[in-house]
Amino acid sequence: MDKLDLGIIGVGHLGSIHARLAAQSERINLVGVFDLDRERAEKVARDCSTQSFQDMRDLLEKVQGASIVVPTSEHYSVAMQALDYGCHLFLEKPIASGVDQARDIVQKARKKDRKIQVGHIERFNPAILAIKDLPLRPMFIEAHRLCTFNPRGCDVSVVLDLMIHDLDLILYLVNSPVTHVDACGVAVVSREEDIANVRLKFASGCVANITSSRIALSPMRRMRLFQQNQYIALDFQEKKADIFKLTDRDTPRDPGCTPSVVTRIGVGDNARDVIYEKPSPPEVNSLKMELEEFARAVLQDLEPEVPGEQGVMALETAATILEQISRP
Ligand code: NAD
Repeated sequence: MDKLDLGIIGVGHLGSIHARLAAQSERINLVGVFDLDRERAEKVARDCSTQSFQDMRDLLEKVQGASIVVPTSEHYSVAMQALDYGCHLFLEKPIASGVDQARDIVQKARKKDRKIQVGHIERFNPAILAIKDLPLRPMFIEAHRLCTFNPRGCDVSVVLDLMIHDLDLILYLVNSPVTHVDACGVAVVSREEDIANVRLKFASGCVANITSSRIALSPMRRMRLFQQNQYIALDFQEKKADIFKLTDRDTPRDPGCTPSVVTRIGVGDNARDVIYEKPSPPEVNSLKMELEEFARAVLQDLEPEVPGEQGVMALETAATILEQISRP
């Protein structure tokens, strides 16, 4: 199998996991790592049996792709340098700290014919993979993403740190322009919002209600989608999807699922069965899968699963939300 020559820039909390998974992958040749913290880079390189580079440019010169896992405020400068060296980019989420910077990165990549994949990892969560091929036309979405307090990530608002995952997922699932945003947020323990609630309306008529908090007492990552005759419950933490469908008794059931009738709702002739289907999500490591999909996109000249343009769209929506929260 062809392998992508990959370098990892930034091997802190998440970058060290990128390095470990890249070193294990059959699709990736981990050429080396670079971090401003040299000791850290050397330790990660030792753990992953790869090389630690003292100058980022020496690493960029040797690789086809760079996985950029530095703090968000550094994405722009590292990504622009990596593009100067002709690298394809795997860029952690959010794509950049500002919309203009994000657009510049994408424009430069397009000019240089380089690919960008943004690290919106929930696209590779088994719960999403389980429903990916279903006919989806959600009309109402309720999303909750709550985590306990951790100072890492508090340099940016919870909207950029956590909610951005749900914004990306919802834009992808609804696939229709946002027409209205109504947002509120509060900074409770840090300088930026720690908790936020947003209501998005889409041209398709769909409404999404999203709540994100990084000061919760216990974690939760759930999304509920309602569409004609169907309710889909996703649990990203448990990596599972539950599907409830309204059907007539004689409707053929989907093969591959194990449906069971849970109740019957409606009155008289309009009464219908509610059946429960439990798809079997694939057992995958989402981070390994997204890195390998990036490698595949580069090696086989395919569109990445989460292209830079979609990273920009999620960030644009986040920016509109933040602007609205900051309005007096
Ligand atoms: P971290 O602070 O643990 O690690 C960042 C590392 O980058 C540090 O080791 C630091 O020394 C290094 N660094 C800083 N500036 C650098 C530069 N210019 N060149 C090279 N190295 C540099 O941060 P983290 O939690 O690993 O987050 C990194 C990125 O990953 C952020 O963009 C964050 O939003 C993203 N992230 C994504 C997810 C996800 O679910 N996809 C989860 C956590 C973090």
